[in-house]
Amino acid sequence: MKRDLIVGRMQPVHKGHLNVIQETLDEVDELIIGIGSAEKSHRLSNPFTGGERVLMLTKALREYDIDPSKYYIIPLEDIACNSLWVGHVKMLTPPFRKVISGNALVKQLFAEENIPHKQPHLFNREEYSGTEVRRRILNNEDWQSLLPKSVVKVIEEIKGIERIRNIAQKEVSEIAYEKKTNQN
Ligand code: NAD
Repeated sequence: MKRDLIVGRMQPVHKGHLNVIQETLDEVDELIIGIGSAEKSHRLSNPFTGGERVLMLTKALREYDIDPSKYYIIPLEDIACNSLWVGHVKMLTPPFRKVISGNALVKQLFAEENIPHKQPHLFNREEYSGTEVRRRILNNEDWQSLLPKSVVKVIEEIKGIERIRNIAQKEVSEIAYEKKTNQN
């Protein structure tokens, strides 16, 4: 059984993630999709909860007509100790052969445990990126075209745009407060 793992924060799930998942599924029998930093939410760099990202991914995989018997979606909480993280991931996932990741830290940690990794092809990386999606949302630019339609629907359903803009306001006022207290 050829079963591989892909790990991603997916804040939010975008077309780059779906392209990598589709490409990988052509080469394996099953794919484990780990949703990283599952406990994080309501911050500018991590606006969505683990559960919301499970919903986005489930709907997007359905939209892309991907057979549900081919994948497992597993939320993975971060842990403080990087050197123990691979063991933590293995404890929570079905057995797998290799990890698919372009993230330098992820590749390093798996290599140290003698688990091979594969670098995915880059799909329009300048635009298909969580950072770019969140930047466009904040700047009122077109973010919708970077995401599967079903993910746009989920973000609208959970009032995600409002959330990101509210969080940004709060953080800007915190920065102003810090500047003021530093001057005094
Ligand atoms: P991400 O959502 O940015 O990317 C997920 C994967 O998709 C990556 O491999 C990335 O290279 C690939 N990808 C993204 N856009 C692409 C595109 N346009 N074309 C092709 N590939 C694309 O997530 P990430 O930051 O890589 O997630 C790593 C997760 O692992 C994080 O949640 C991190 O916290 C977690 N982690 C945790 C620990 C710990 O808890 N100690 C340690 C290491 C990593």
